Amino acid sequence: MATPPRVFHDPALLRSEIRQAQADGKRVGLVPTMGALHPGHLSLVAESQKSCDLTVVTIFVNPTQFAPGEDFTKYPRTLDADLELLSEYDPVWVLVPEVDAMYPPGSTTEVKAPEIAEPLEGTFRPIHFDGVATIVLKLFQVAPADAAFFGQKDFQQVRVIQEMVRDLLVPIEIVRCPIVREADGLAMSSRNRYLSPEEREVALSISRSLNEAAQRIEAGDSNAEVLRDTIEQSLRSAGIGEIDYVSLACPRTLKPVETIEGDVVILVAAKVGTTRLIDNVLVSPPAS
Ligand code: AMP
Repeated sequence: MATPPRVFHDPALLRSEIRQAQADGKRVGLVPTMGALHPGHLSLVAESQKSCDLTVVTIFVNPTQFAPGEDFTKYPRTLDADLELLSEYDPVWVLVPEVDAMYPPGSTTEVKAPEIAEPLEGTFRPIHFDGVATIVLKLFQVAPADAAFFGQKDFQQVRVIQEMVRDLLVPIEIVRCPIVREADGLAMSSRNRYLSPEEREVALSISRSLNEAAQRIEAGDSNAEVLRDTIEQSLRSAGIGEIDYVSLACPRTLKPVETIEGDVVILVAAKVGTTRLIDNVLVSPPAS
């Protein structure tokens, strides 16, 4: 039976209730989101529920991770529908803070994201990960959970948070969860709703070309440059004009690899129309 989640607007109240739950022996999981929830987000809630007694979902469109000209103002905000979806998961608490509650007026302190933030997304969105690291650390303060669940969809983001937690000695376990896709392969994203039907067709070339490259690696292809060129060509012939990057990289360092000898992550960021999409796949070559 659907049970509406308990909604908090006051971070201090949430923190004291979480501390109380933990004092009562409950393990608490945290799922940070910007809302406009879809099955990808809900998979993180389900994963949290496997190991935690209580799941806290935060819904906050964080202004500091958007550069001027990005989609902060038009980012979808669908709180009623989000709460409805979360009512299928119990017990769930939801924090929906005002901007001033997360950024007290006059605050000037920020987190500088670790070096792993610099390539890939960092090249095209230079302030993005500082904003992400800052808000995620604040969320860890107001929701001092035992574990936090993040999606592989944002592969570099997970690495940024893992390194931040290590560097700043934050006592929380970071769990990376698999990408949830539409039936046709498109990685689910709150931004997919910006795509016209024609653009959505074009967008499919991203997951398709990643999948083809993964199959070639699994079959023994090890030349990263050839594979990268093939992906770029597939994207261009599908009609994608603006490719930010296609990278075959070490999953730990995110540095590009030349010869694929171990696990590799293939990451793509590209614009379809005006919508910027990212996707990735983790691949293991055949055992030598
Ligand atoms: P967002 O609301 O876009 O900030 O995403 C919140 C969390 O959901 C992040 O950890 C994302 O990586 C994760 N997420 C978004 N889309 C997906 C997806 N398709 N599959 C799995 N996790 C996802």
